[in-house]
Amino acid sequence: MSNTTPQTFEFQAEIKQLLDIVIHSLYTEKEIFVRELISNASDALEKLRHTRITERDVHDEKLEPEINVTTDDKAKRITIQDFGIGMTREELTRNLGTIAHSGSKAFLKALGEGAQKNSNLIGQFGVGFYSAFMVAKSVKVYARSWRKDEPGHVWSSEGAGSYTIEPSEGERRGAKIVIELKDDCGEFAQDWRMKEILERYSAFVSFPISLNGKRVNTVQALWLRNKNEIKEEEYTEFYKFQAHAHDEPRLRLHFSADAPLTINALLFTPKENTEKLGFSRLEPSVALYCRKVLIDAKPKDLLPEWLRFLKGVVDSEDLPLNISRETMQDKSLVEKLNRVITKRFLKFLDEEARNRAEGYEAFYQEFGVFLKEGAALDFTHKEQLTKLLRFESSLTEKGKTTSLADYVSRMSSEQKEIYYLVGPSRAAIESGPYLEGFKARNLEVLLCYEAVDEYVMNNVREFDGRKLTAADHADVKLADLPKPEGALGEREIKDLANWLKDTLGERVSEVKSSDRLVDSPVLALNADKFMSPHMRRMMKAMNRDGAENPLRVSLEFNPRHAVIKRLFETHTAHPERAKLVAEQLLDNALIAAGLLEDPTSMVARLNKLLESV
Ligand code: ADP
Ligand code: MG
Repeated sequence: MSNTTPQTFEFQAEIKQLLDIVIHSLYTEKEIFVRELISNASDALEKLRHTRITERDVHDEKLEPEINVTTDDKAKRITIQDFGIGMTREELTRNLGTIAHSGSKAFLKALGEGAQKNSNLIGQFGVGFYSAFMVAKSVKVYARSWRKDEPGHVWSSEGAGSYTIEPSEGERRGAKIVIELKDDCGEFAQDWRMKEILERYSAFVSFPISLNGKRVNTVQALWLRNKNEIKEEEYTEFYKFQAHAHDEPRLRLHFSADAPLTINALLFTPKENTEKLGFSRLEPSVALYCRKVLIDAKPKDLLPEWLRFLKGVVDSEDLPLNISRETMQDKSLVEKLNRVITKRFLKFLDEEARNRAEGYEAFYQEFGVFLKEGAALDFTHKEQLTKLLRFESSLTEKGKTTSLADYVSRMSSEQKEIYYLVGPSRAAIESGPYLEGFKARNLEVLLCYEAVDEYVMNNVREFDGRKLTAADHADVKLADLPKPEGALGEREIKDLANWLKDTLGERVSEVKSSDRLVDSPVLALNADKFMSPHMRRMMKAMNRDGAENPLRVSLEFNPRHAVIKRLFETHTAHPERAKLVAEQLLDNALIAAGLLEDPTSMVARLNKLLESV
C-alpha cells in the first residue's frame, strides 16, 4: 500500500484497555497529561542531543532545543511542539500504537496485580502519552524525524480503538501534538491555567519551555548539578523557590546515591520551626521527582512523619523502571527511598553534631522536638535518634546541653541508671527538693523542660543498656550518705512519721524519712505510678480525665533539717501549732512539685502561724 494516503490502524489490545481506563477514569487531576507530554518532549530533545554526538547529518539542524506550548481558549485547543528527535512513520506506529514503553506498561501491570480502579495510579506514575485522552476529543501528532530522508506524518486518533497515519508536508523536525479538548475540559486552553500547570510539574525541565511566547521555566534542577559548582546563593534561591519560603535555609544536605537506588536529593531545614510558633502541623513537603519531572509534591510516605519539617527534592531515575518490576501496591519502592534518605539524613545530623556542634545546637533548639517525636515513636530509627537528643543537665551550664552518650561517659561504675527530672525550667528544678540528693551524691541529672519530654523519656526507656529513670520517682534508691551529727534517731523518725501520717490524713499515702534531702526539709513524691506530677499538671491544663482524682503524695522528710528537728521537739508539747507547721510543710512540698492546687487555705494558716511567733 502506498505511504501517501491515510491509513487506519487498530490499537493493540492492551492500548485499547488502557485508553478505556484513561478515558473513563474519574481521576480528578486531569492536568497531569501536561506533565506527561512535556516530559515526552523533553525526552525527545534529550535523545536528539545524544544523537548529535555521533550523527552530523540532522534534519533542521539549526532549530533550537526548545518546547513551545500554545493555547487557544476559543477553539479549546492546545499545541505542544518540540524540536526533538521526532518520529518516522514506523516509529509513530510502534510508539503510539503498541505498548512497548515503560510508564504505561507499569500501569497495566499494577492494574493486573489487583490495583483495579485505583485511578490514583494514573496520577502517580502517569500513563504517558495516552493521558492526553483524559481531556482530548482528538489528538494529532505531527512528526518529522531527525533523519534527513524521512518525510513528515500526522498521526491522529479519537482514542476510540483506531488511529490513522498520513503524510504531512512541511513539518519541522520533532513532534507537534495538537489536542482538541473535550467540551468540559476547556479550562486547559486558558493561558493562566496552563501556566500554573507547567510551573507546577515542569519547572525544572532542562529545555526552555514557553507558553504563548513567554518563557515559563527559569529555575535549574540544582539537585542534579555537581555540589562543588553550586554557589551558596544558588542554594538559597532554590530553597526559597522550591519551598515557597521567605527565610534562609538552616541546614542543607545535597547527596546522591547509586545503590540500592539511584537518588539525587537536595534537602533543607528551614530556619525556624513554624509548628513551635503555633502554626498548623507541617505537611510532608519534600517533593518526589523522576528525572526533573514532578511526580508528587507532597508524597506521604517518602519520609517518616517526624521528618515533616524537611523541604527539598528527591529525584530517582529508578522510579518508572523499578515500578514495572515491583508491585506498586506494597509501595516497596517508596519505602526503599524512605529508608535510604532517612538513614542518610540521620548520618548527616550526626556529622553536624560532631563537626559543627554550635550549628547543631541551634538547629536542635528549633527542631529537636521532631527528633524527640521520632525517638519516641519511630522504632526503626529510635537508636540513632536517641543519640541525637540533647538535654541540659545538673552538670552543664544553663543553656548548654549534653548528649546521652556524654552523660554515660561521665557515669561512675556504681551508677546503673540515667536520671532525669522534668520541670518547667532550670530554676524551678534547681530550687526544688528533688535534685539535692543527687547532687550530694555526685549523680548527674538530665533537666527536661519541654512538655513532650516525659512522654519521650517513657518511650525511649533506655540508652546504651541503661534505664532512663525519673529522679522524682518514688522507687529511686540512692546510696547512703554519711549521717551528719544531730540527725533524728531511728525511734524519733518513726514517731514523727506516724504522727505526720495521722495529722495529714488523706492527703498523704505514706510518710517516711529520706536520704535524698540535703537542704530541704520535705519533698513530695509521686504516689501515683501512672501519673507523674508533671503529667498531672499537663492533664490538668488540658482538662483531661484523671486530673480530678484527689491528689495523694508520698511525703519524705529530712531528719537532719532544723525545721524537722524542731517539729519533732514541739509536736507533743504544742500539737496545734505543730499541726499547722506539718500542713504548711506539705503545702511547701506540693508547691515545689508544682502540685499545689488551691493556695487559698494556705494564707489563713500562714497568718495563724505568724501569730504564734
Ligand atoms: P514513555 O514516555 O514512558 O516511553 P509515553 O506513552 O509517554 O511513554 O510515550 C511513548 C513513546 O512515544 C515514547 O517512548 C517515545 O518513543 C514516543 N514519543 C512520545 N512523545 C514523543 C515526542 N514528543 N517526540 C518523540 N517521540 C515521542
Ligand atoms: Mg512519557
